[in-house]
Order: sequence, then structure tokens, then C-alpha cells
Amino acid sequence: MSQAAQRRASPRVWVEGIAIGGNAPVVVQSMTNTDTADISGTTKQVFELAEAGSELVRITVNTSEAAAAVPHIRRRLDALGCKVPLIGDFHYNGHRLLTEFPDCAQALAKYRINPGNVGKNRKGEDQFAMMIGVAIKYDKPVRIGVNWGSLDQDLVVRLMDENAKSPQPKDVREITREALIVSALDSAMRAEDLGLPHDRIVLSCKVSEVQDLIAVYQELAKRCDYALHLGLTEAGMGSKGIVASTAALAVLLQQGIGDTIRVSLTPAPGGARTEEVVVAQEILQTMGLRAFAPMVTACPGCGRTTSTVFQELAQSIQGYLRAQMPVWREQYSGVEEMTVAVMGCIVNGPGESKMANIGISLPGTGETPSAPVYVDGEKTVTLRGDNIAAEFQQIVDDYVARKYQSKVDA
Ligand code: SF4
Repeated sequence: MSQAAQRRASPRVWVEGIAIGGNAPVVVQSMTNTDTADISGTTKQVFELAEAGSELVRITVNTSEAAAAVPHIRRRLDALGCKVPLIGDFHYNGHRLLTEFPDCAQALAKYRINPGNVGKNRKGEDQFAMMIGVAIKYDKPVRIGVNWGSLDQDLVVRLMDENAKSPQPKDVREITREALIVSALDSAMRAEDLGLPHDRIVLSCKVSEVQDLIAVYQELAKRCDYALHLGLTEAGMGSKGIVASTAALAVLLQQGIGDTIRVSLTPAPGGARTEEVVVAQEILQTMGLRAFAPMVTACPGCGRTTSTVFQELAQSIQGYLRAQMPVWREQYSGVEEMTVAVMGCIVNGPGESKMANIGISLPGTGETPSAPVYVDGEKTVTLRGDNIAAEFQQIVDDYVARKYQSKVDA
């Protein structure tokens, strides 16, 4: 398999125990959609996101009630044994909340500041300086996170005016992309002038169109060495959100650009917030950049699989492997690299099954109702009857216990 380009060099930014940049593995992060003032609801969702594998979790801090809730959320997570660092997302009133609620400022591991939403002119500069001052005081890193939707309009107008006077004016889209980059870099420079160390700064410039995101980050990556947070903002729902995020992030990650990622999916009503964590992990894992949970190779099925047995087994095994990961992660080293194949018939079934750590080849329509199982390339047993799923799950459990080093014994 060809490899992604060498990672772009950046300083390493520590967010409590999690490293962003400096050649550290690309970090998965997520964001809650609960009201932060709801201490129980937010604690529960942060815990779920962390259990799903989110290494950093961002929460909005938008009101005094939310700011007051943050230290309680932190304490409750600690009591649950959940150490995931919390990032506070600030807009408009961050300067006030961070200064009036020192316990909140202390409990957060990182602050996200949007330069487009800190205020205008002298007042905006002062408010930005107040937030950076708090970050310096508590030794917290900051993400300067610019968004297309909340871009500093004065900056856009200034760049448009300059462009209009240029002998070869650029189009509006190019100027807007440039404004995103300039806003992020100017704010980072100002933060450094105020005393925030270079290695306490992460940058992001989020947009909602794939080609814009790629162009902006390629340029941003050339112009600075700050650690970069990647994400397509407002990616959307369902397959559209997943595909758009994957398309954009994969291109950049393949070029070595990006030190932490967030996938901004809109959950379906009642849908799990943790889906964004799974998608982020799967982007990194399918690209060969990191391993988080055993991967299931399953064939798409065709006219040879006219029953749903094969789909049901593929789904139940995939769900089982993911559900086991919080436990296995604590118990076994390397289990996240395990591969499992669930194949629909003998055409490709035995071949793919032999390539995986464990594979099962189910009977296609008209084939003998038996399912050979392969372990590390060797056929070990043939399952028959109505209990194939449970028996296969047991084989997986036994394999994990036998194959992967116990962290308890180590
Ligand atoms: S392995 Fe068999 S069932 Fe699956 S897609 Fe190929 S031919 Fe169809």
C-alpha cells in the first residue's frame, strides 16, 4: 500500500496529555450538542463521545450558566474515570466568561477562539487580548478557529478593496479564501505578540465546500508551521456529510496536512452523536494512518446472497467489535489492528477470509449450508446450523484473548 506523504512539520501542542502536531498521531475530536448548563446531560454525552474514542471533546461555553457548569462537568467526568480533555468553544462573550469564571477557565484544557466573533475594532482587540491573557495565565493552548460563516467582514472588505486596485484582480471566492487565511494568521501573530507561546496555538479555517477547504489548508500549510485542526464545517447529514468530510480530509491528510480532525455531521433526529467519532476514526484507519477498532471486510453481496443471513452477521460482528473496544482497549495491546472478514459465498469468501486474522465464508444461495472459518489463514472449523453468529463471536473472543498481549499481565 502506498503511504501518505510525510507529515507537515509543526510544533507539538500539548492539550493536557494529548499531543497535537509535532508528528504525533492525528487526534480525533468531537463536539457535544447538549446545553452545557445541563450538567448531567453534557457529562453523559462527553462520556459517550470519549468511550467511542474521541480523544478531545469540545463543549460550547456560551452563557454564565454554561461557564458555571464546566467545573462540575469536569469533576463528574473525573469521578467516572474519564480523563478526556475538555475544550471550551467561545464566541462573542468569551472574554467575559473566561475572566468572570476562573474555575471554568481552569477546568478547560484548551480554548477555541473565533476571531470573527470577538468584537470589532479596538473593543474586539481588547476582548481578544483578554482571552489570550487568560490562556497565558492558566497555561492553556488556544485554537484560533476561523469560519467562512463568521469571517471578519471588515477584513473581507479591506481585501476586496485592495483587490479592486490590483492590475489582475482575483475572483471573490479567492479573496474570501485569502481572508480566512489572513484572519487566522494575523490573530495567531497577535496572540504571540501578547505572549502566548508558538507551541500553544492550533489553527483552523473551516469552510463547507470541499474544494475550498482543500485550497485553503494547502495554502495555510505553506504559510505557517502551526499545528492544524481540520474539519469541513456544516458537512451535512447522513452519507452526504460523511462523503464530503472524507473527500476533503482524505486529500489533505494524504498530503501530510492536518494534526487533529473533527467530522461535523448533523445527526438524524434521535441519532447518536458518537457517529462523528466513528467516521473520523474510520477515515484515519482506512487510510492506514491510525488503528482504533478491528475492521470488518465484508463483500457487498450479490445475486448469490438472496437471504439476509450474511448482512445480519456482518452487521452484528461489526457492532460487537466496536462495542467491545472500550473493554479490549484496556485489556489487550494491538487488538485494534485485528481484521475480520465476513463474506457472502465461496467465490471470494475463502480468499478474503484467509487474508484477514479471522474470516468466515457464509453459504451462498444453493451452496452447502456450512460456513468455513479461517484463523490466520488456516481453516479451523466449519460452522453449521442456526447459531453461527454466536459461535463466530466466541471464536473472535477466544482469538483476541489468545493473540493479543494482556495489558493486565504486562
Ligand atoms: S463473495 Fe460471493 S456473495 Fe459476495 S459479492 Fe462476491 S460473489 Fe457475491
